[in-house]
Amino acid sequence: MVMELSDDHRLMVETVRDYARAELTPQDIEWDRSESSCCAALGSLYEMGLMSMRIPEDHGGLDLPTTCYARIIRELAYASPSVAVTIAVHSMVCEVVQHFASAHVRDDILPTLASPGNLAAFAISEPDAGSDPGSAKTRAERVGGGWRLSGAKMWVTNGITGRWFVVLARMADGEHAGALSMFLMDAESEGLQRNIIHGKMGLRASETAEMSLDNVFIPEDNLLGKPGWGLRIALSALDGGRIGISSQAAGIAAACLDLMVSYARDREQFGRPIADFQAVQTMIADSQTELMAAEQLIDKATWLKDQGRTYSQAASMAKLYATEAAGRIADRGVQIHGGYGYCNEFRIEQLYRDVRVTRIYEGTSEIQRIVIARNLLAET
Ligand SMILES: Cc1cc2nc3c(=O)[nH]c(=O)nc-3n(C[C@H](O)[C@H](O)[C@H](O)COP(=O)(O)OP(=O)(O)OC[C@H]3O[C@@H](n4cnc5c(N)ncnc54)[C@H](O)[C@@H]3O)c2cc1C
Repeated sequence: MVMELSDDHRLMVETVRDYARAELTPQDIEWDRSESSCCAALGSLYEMGLMSMRIPEDHGGLDLPTTCYARIIRELAYASPSVAVTIAVHSMVCEVVQHFASAHVRDDILPTLASPGNLAAFAISEPDAGSDPGSAKTRAERVGGGWRLSGAKMWVTNGITGRWFVVLARMADGEHAGALSMFLMDAESEGLQRNIIHGKMGLRASETAEMSLDNVFIPEDNLLGKPGWGLRIALSALDGGRIGISSQAAGIAAACLDLMVSYARDREQFGRPIADFQAVQTMIADSQTELMAAEQLIDKATWLKDQGRTYSQAASMAKLYATEAAGRIADRGVQIHGGYGYCNEFRIEQLYRDVRVTRIYEGTSEIQRIVIARNLLAET
């Protein structure tokens, strides 16, 4: 397994790291306090090509290998977990359009996703369909020239600023997977209403929206894949998406680790830095070990994906382990900060809140365990 980055890619990761830590972190703190979206501040990231990381070169993108892409998401998450998920979801949709859109739609839409005004989003979940997307109720009714979609979508990241939405909808009654299809919806279509969800525990600069669709027209060409491929496309997108979320979690964990090390060196109790105490060192050692293990699992999943090999189970293992480890690392970060860690004057407090959702979205930890076990049981 070789996961070395080329010199160009290493330089790009370093450039993103420097930019993100200098420019994004101060804004991220402000966005969290004012609960405002980071989407209006993506201009420089578009200029750096970060919205086209997963768009092929012949469609105007950077076409970065997954390994490099994942490291960039990690760097973004270190500085702003909200920006990281905004770009990770957009990138996941770029891949869906590349692989499942008709040639005509792909050639038309994919190049535009690299430029401002064309943020992409993934609308699978509904008020009553989360872990079980197969129970989605949004309806797709056949009409002349396409379909009309009606229903409610929930928890849509990039849901307010987003222009292009991948939407799961039901074409027929019944539980069978073939009843669901996937569509590419233009948010400028009539019949779409979107409302921001306020009051999130963390990741408050990432836009999360609820949407209602009232007979939204989808042209014939905007069916993704074939009729009945809805779940298949959703699950394939989520395999890639889980690499993005595990990378987001690893980036947050790396930031927490740096914060706890630096605080442990500076803070003195009993006349010496708390870093001298073995109990504090244990928390730091466990965090470093778990972070490295998470990074190895992510690298393995990205390597398999770049090799064109099956990576669903590897992506779920990376997501399960990285997000759970990141939760533990953030928790230790707060513990090492003592009372100051409980106060928003210190960065660790926000990261502790931000990291929590990584164990929930793009499949909860419980769902990852199901995917991992199912893969294993199917092999033996
Ligand atoms: C901030 C945020 C952003 C999001 N962004 C998006 C997005 O962009 N697009 C999108 O489509 N969705 C998005 N989601 C939705 C997210 O993917 C769902 O919240 C998640 O899949 C869980 O679904 P649920 O909330 O309905 O919980 P439920 O499915 O109701 O689960 C509740 C609990 O039951 C457990 N559970 C459920 N089924 C099983 C089972 N079979 N075995 C064991 N345990 C089980 C779960 O693990 C969980 O602990 C987002 C959510 C949040 C909070």
